[in-house]
Amino acid sequence: MITPQRMTETFMDLVKIDSLSRSEGRLAAELQERLEALGAEIVFDRAHERIGGECGNLIARFGGNRPCPPLLLNAHMDTVGPGEGIRPILADGLFTSDGTTILGADDKSAIAILLEALTVTVEDDLPHGPLEVVLTVCEEVGLLGAKHLDFSLISARLGYVLDATDTAGIVTRAPAANHLEFKIHGKDAHAGAAPEKGINAIWLASRAIAAQTIGRIDHETTCNIGLIEGGMATNIVPSLVTVKGEVRSHNEQKLERVTSAMVQGFEDAVAAYPKTDPQSPLPRLEFSCERDFSATHIPDDHPVVTLAQQAAANLGRRLVPKATGGGADANVFFQKGIMTGVLGTGMRDMHTVRENVRLDDMLETAELVLEIVRLHANG
Ligand SMILES: [Zn+2]
Repeated sequence: MITPQRMTETFMDLVKIDSLSRSEGRLAAELQERLEALGAEIVFDRAHERIGGECGNLIARFGGNRPCPPLLLNAHMDTVGPGEGIRPILADGLFTSDGTTILGADDKSAIAILLEALTVTVEDDLPHGPLEVVLTVCEEVGLLGAKHLDFSLISARLGYVLDATDTAGIVTRAPAANHLEFKIHGKDAHAGAAPEKGINAIWLASRAIAAQTIGRIDHETTCNIGLIEGGMATNIVPSLVTVKGEVRSHNEQKLERVTSAMVQGFEDAVAAYPKTDPQSPLPRLEFSCERDFSATHIPDDHPVVTLAQQAAANLGRRLVPKATGGGADANVFFQKGIMTGVLGTGMRDMHTVRENVRLDDMLETAELVLEIVRLHANG
C-alpha cells in the first residue's frame, strides 16, 4: 500500500542530499543502496567520463514476475542552484524550501514517487514486468546525462519520464531546439585617449540584439537571447562580446527560418558598421549553431499514451496528451527510438526559491505509476 508518511520521509531525505549537476555522487550512492534493498540490479554507465562529474547515469533493473516487454521509468538526479543545504518544510500538505534555496522537487519528487511505487510493488509482490529505472545525471545542463547514456544497457522501447507539473497530462510533443552562439570581434583602444582607433563590440552587439524579434514568435515557436558577456573596463573600448541564444519550435521549417533570421540580424549589424579602414578585417562576426535536441511527437493512439490513459481511467481520472515548450530526457529517448511520455508530479515554480509540490499530487502520481506497471504486466 502507498504510505504517505514513508513517501514524505523519502522525499525529505532526498532533497537534503545536495546534487547539483555534476555533483550527483552522494545522491546516486544513496539511491543505489535503496534500490538494491528492493532487489534491483544496479549498473552505472560511464557518461561522466565524457561530460564531467562524479558519477554516470544509474540504471536499476528489476526482473519481472510476468513475461512482458520491459518498461522504462526515468527521472533525473541533478538539480539547478541554489540547491545546497536545502531545508524542506511540509505545511498543510505542501512541501517548500525555507525560501533561500530551490526545493529540489525537480526532480526528486519523481524519484520519491518511483521509490514508493517500487517499494509497494516489491512488498506486495504486485504483478510487474521487467522494469528499467534510469536515473540520469546532468539533465539540467542540456540533457547531457541522457545524451551520453549507454543505450546498450537499456532494452525497453517504451516508458515514462516523470519530470513535469501537470498530473492530469502526459506530454507527448516537445519542440526541437537550436543553440546559437555569436562572437562579435571589435577592436580595443584607450577609451579616453584614442576611442576612434577602437571598434566597440558592445555597441555593435546591442544593435544586433535590438534588431531581433524575440520571445514568443508564434504558438509553436520561441526565441531567446539568454546570455551576454564582454568588455574589460570602462576605459577600454571593448573588443569582444559573446551572445548566446536559442530558438525552439515544434515545426522544423519555422525553427530553421527563425534561426536564419537571428543569424542575419547579427550579420547585418556587423556589415553596417561604418568602417574607416577598408583593409581591416574588423569588425568581424563568428557564430555557431548547434542542434540542442530534436522534436518529439508521439501519436495520441500510441500504446505509451493509451496505457497511461487506461491506468488513469481505472483510477477514475483523466490523462490528456499535451505539448510542452521545454526539453526533457524524453526528447533524447525519442531520438533513440524509445517512446516515453512525460508525466507530472505536481511540482511547481521549478528553478526558483518558491518551488513547491503538494504531497497529494505526489501520492496521485505514485498511484498512477503503480497502475501503469500493473496494467502493463497484465496487458
Ligand atoms: Zn526536471
